Amino acid sequence: MQVQELKTIINESKRIVFFGGAGVSTASGIPDFRSANGLYHEKYHRTFSPEEMVSHMFFTDYTEDFFKFYKQKLVYPEAKPNACHIALAKLEKEGKLKAVVTQNIDGLHQEAGSKKVFELHGSVKRNYCTQCHTFYDADYVMQAKGIPYCEKCGGIIKPDVVLYGEGLDNRVVSQAIEAIENADTLIIGGTSLIVYPAAGLIDYFRGNKLVLINKSQTATEGHADLVIHEDIAKVMQAAVLDA
Ligand code: ZN
Repeated sequence: MQVQELKTIINESKRIVFFGGAGVSTASGIPDFRSANGLYHEKYHRTFSPEEMVSHMFFTDYTEDFFKFYKQKLVYPEAKPNACHIALAKLEKEGKLKAVVTQNIDGLHQEAGSKKVFELHGSVKRNYCTQCHTFYDADYVMQAKGIPYCEKCGGIIKPDVVLYGEGLDNRVVSQAIEAIENADTLIIGGTSLIVYPAAGLIDYFRGNKLVLINKSQTATEGHADLVIHEDIAKVMQAAVLDA
């Protein structure tokens, strides 16, 4: 019945914005990298957590280990868009959805056909030489043995992913805020909303309907018009794709 309620909300909305987290990628077989094991390092005589292994410091000081972890735990070349990605692309095509704001870095929204996607944490699909800024795709980085180097100048190639210790792209953040400010409905899916900057961005929403879809409980359920504790891909399949 909650799906019916979501259907009604979607039908009555004209400017939906979707805000998504790690749970959106789960159905595409992409686990949260934070569930990976830590790594012990001699130099500091301690173990680094998955978060530390995707930090700016780790990229700079342990570049080879950074890419080992990055290639194993952050890039999934075989992953395909799931029902959530496909449903959102469909709603955009129909003119009902204005933007997707995502914390994910897998580029699956674009692969599903979404055009307006604000990637708060960047994308594994884009990579740049740290010296001459030449662009490289994900395949180039994945096929490189160890550290990927630029063909033109020999510089180290860095994924266009926001690492811990790095700031978000202000332009992307302000575009995301603008989209959320202008939305009549905000659907938040696959995130528990505790991670910065998710919680802060949601405060800009001034529209009618706030919908939360997440397997486990989220932080701000009291403000929501509709809360669904289910897998986001299943919910979007039922609400948008199943006629
Ligand atoms: Zn270069």
